[in-house]
Amino acid sequence: MRPYSIIALFTLLCTCVSAQLMAQTANSEQDRSVTYYLPDLDYNEDIMTPEQFLGWQIGDWHISHDLQQAYMRYLAGASDRITLEQIGRTYEDRPLLNLIITSPENHKNMAELQRLHEYWNVRNSDVKENMLNEVPAVLYQGFSIHGNEPSGGNAAPMVAYYYAAAPWSALEATLDDNIIVFDPCYNPDGFNRFASWANTHKNKAMTSDGQDREYNEAYPRGRSNHYWFDLNRDWLPVQHPESRARIASFHKWKPNVLTDHHEMGKDATFFFMPGAPTRIHPMTPKVNQELTAKIGKFHAEALDEIGSLYYSGEGYDDFYYGKGSTYPDINGCVGILFEQASSRGHLQDTDNGLLTFPFTIRNQVATALSTFKAFGELRDELLRYQRAHWHKAYAGSNGYVVDFEGDFGRGREFMEMMQRHGVPMKENEVNGVATQVFIYETPFSKAAFEPILEFEDSLFYDVSTFSLPMAFNLKYTKSTTGLPKGGSWQPAGNAFPSPKAGRASYAYLLPWDDYYAAKALYRLQDAGVRVKVSDQPFTAPGGEQLSAGTLMIPVGNMQEMSDDELYALITELEEELLLDFIPTETGTPLDGLMFGSRSAYQTLRKPEIALLVEGGVSSLDAGETWHLLDQRFGIPVTKLPLDRVGRADLSRYNTIIMSDGYYGDLGERGTKALQEWMGPGNVLITSKRAGTWAAANGLASVKTRRMDNPDKGVKQRPYAKAYRDRSGRVLGGAIYQMEGDLTHPLMFGLKRSEIPVFRRGTLLFEPANNVYATPLRYSSKPLLSGYSPRGFEQAAAESAGVIVSGSRGGRTISFADNMNFRAFWYGTNRLFLNAIFFGDTIGSGTTD
Ligand SMILES: [Zn+2]
Repeated sequence: MRPYSIIALFTLLCTCVSAQLMAQTANSEQDRSVTYYLPDLDYNEDIMTPEQFLGWQIGDWHISHDLQQAYMRYLAGASDRITLEQIGRTYEDRPLLNLIITSPENHKNMAELQRLHEYWNVRNSDVKENMLNEVPAVLYQGFSIHGNEPSGGNAAPMVAYYYAAAPWSALEATLDDNIIVFDPCYNPDGFNRFASWANTHKNKAMTSDGQDREYNEAYPRGRSNHYWFDLNRDWLPVQHPESRARIASFHKWKPNVLTDHHEMGKDATFFFMPGAPTRIHPMTPKVNQELTAKIGKFHAEALDEIGSLYYSGEGYDDFYYGKGSTYPDINGCVGILFEQASSRGHLQDTDNGLLTFPFTIRNQVATALSTFKAFGELRDELLRYQRAHWHKAYAGSNGYVVDFEGDFGRGREFMEMMQRHGVPMKENEVNGVATQVFIYETPFSKAAFEPILEFEDSLFYDVSTFSLPMAFNLKYTKSTTGLPKGGSWQPAGNAFPSPKAGRASYAYLLPWDDYYAAKALYRLQDAGVRVKVSDQPFTAPGGEQLSAGTLMIPVGNMQEMSDDELYALITELEEELLLDFIPTETGTPLDGLMFGSRSAYQTLRKPEIALLVEGGVSSLDAGETWHLLDQRFGIPVTKLPLDRVGRADLSRYNTIIMSDGYYGDLGERGTKALQEWMGPGNVLITSKRAGTWAAANGLASVKTRRMDNPDKGVKQRPYAKAYRDRSGRVLGGAIYQMEGDLTHPLMFGLKRSEIPVFRRGTLLFEPANNVYATPLRYSSKPLLSGYSPRGFEQAAAESAGVIVSGSRGGRTISFADNMNFRAFWYGTNRLFLNAIFFGDTIGSGTTD
């Protein structure tokens, strides 16, 4: 039964006509049968081609994720070479699929093959060197992690069809001994968003004019996932369900080669790795790049055959392990990036003539098949390289000691991240409570821990550093004496303090130390519970030493809910968030002001938040805020488009967040509305360039610090150096140290005044005139890790990290940096949350 066959027949006729209408390129053919994409072979007629299944040929339309998925499921059912695993779901509940492709014989023996592959990489196992021929190599092929780079995901059905329907003689040399894990779409939500856009705007009489709406997607565009994140930066942070499923699959299969099919600007040609030789992470072994180059020869050959222009060895880098083509390189695998010039929609004018969507797909199919060929021929070499990598990896008891400093929420998140990357660890328990974790040295943990300050090249496609303990602001030391035996990939995780659930007759206290204390605070406020915050340290009636920022929840007549209901809610929060509320029977602490003190305790208002979006607002930064509040803390946030601000009812909000970006689209009306909204109790939070906008419009007093022109006094530089000179001045991402005033509400919950901050770009702010209004500033020698352009560190020294302005009775809190970088900068999230919850409590006379 072929459900689509009638439609298929009908559209077969139609597509012949449209193929004729379709503009030509030197490389496109009028008749796009399967052989436009695939070698001319005797395909199994019992298996439907994508065209028979869809009713239209690949390249006619942008395939939706639903149809792509349906076809993959169909292939898995129709072919005994393919089984299907659903490895997870996206935020929008789309399934994430892996097709496991190998010989029918191998499928019957899968458990043993997986064991052989795994133990091949385990030292002192029963799988010895001389068993090389029995061990399967694994190829992981994946497509369109950037949803609006569609040629990869549209090539996937054609490639999968090839594996399912090509004569066995074409596949057996590779598939008899090896396994393919095939991931047709790395980013289903973004891919589907883009497919809808491109199809919705397709013309019948096609236009190649790049100004057509078809080629100009609406905010936030299809590149990202549901929360507007770039998933091709998340292989290291692993904060999203797509990456979590994929990294788990990666470590389950331990592939030998992993491919990542992308697109770039329309005027380019086709790129395959290796990238620029000077821009490789120093931890990546030389052999890795040699193997990449060997595989590259197969791509060149395949593209020669179809006459497509290509390049390699330049342009892209292999530095940041958070990218799909680089993450494998620290894990004994060879990661390969492909970049195809994008037709974005269906047809575009380019420097290289008309670029059709089918042509872009064809190059992706060709290189997916050349990967397959290279993988088959180089499998012995790839397996040997992988074995050597892993046998060396767990060399002993070297490693790091990481201290939680009382923040178990952050500690748990950190350990979970290490666990996802297969790093062995062990909790260090003191009196039954894990206060530290030992992290054992592996290539990955070493790359993630060691700061990096020297570089062969000053050009970076992305960030130049990604130190994880700095991201979490966790204190760590390198072990000099060796870590105790017993590191495991599975930490016990049960040595965190378990909730005591004691019942209070007077008040509950909640220290602000734990990352998730903010989640409890919002839940309490949302349930109508009145919560106060202490702005001073004190000793609780039971003797606990508590810091400023501790929450105090009175029991009794101040609350609308009964004592029983409050106790039930507190117990629920303790259990769910593993927080430790302290019950008290009296309002008199052992040391410090009494709980009824108006000078020490302020009632907190529940935040009602609007996040400005669209126009020139960075969708990445805004998405990070949305994700932080919505996903991680369960705080509702209204995403308010700039062009609506002027006519929106802003009185619904007491907190408005302006991410990095340009705000010209607010217009006069929107600007005026924000100015009028500002008033007592309201807090405006700005990030980076939004602070400059706020200052220019009377909502903040932020002054930009001018940097010296690096060309000052230089008469002439060689033209040929211009590009490098310019690129060397870009701050693509580095880590700097700031110092904070721990008595300031924005610092509540921090234990140390030093805090590592992630920075991109060179915009700096001068400290405020008011001596209390810059509670965080860059240290005098601030660079901790990464590439810092010449002169920037000196310029940044002692500049402002955050400025608090008083504006019309409200508060504007202007961060010089992004506090929520890529959802894994857990350390500075705290400051951002403090701005939301405590911003309005910042005293008058302490602002600029
Ligand atoms: Zn891309």
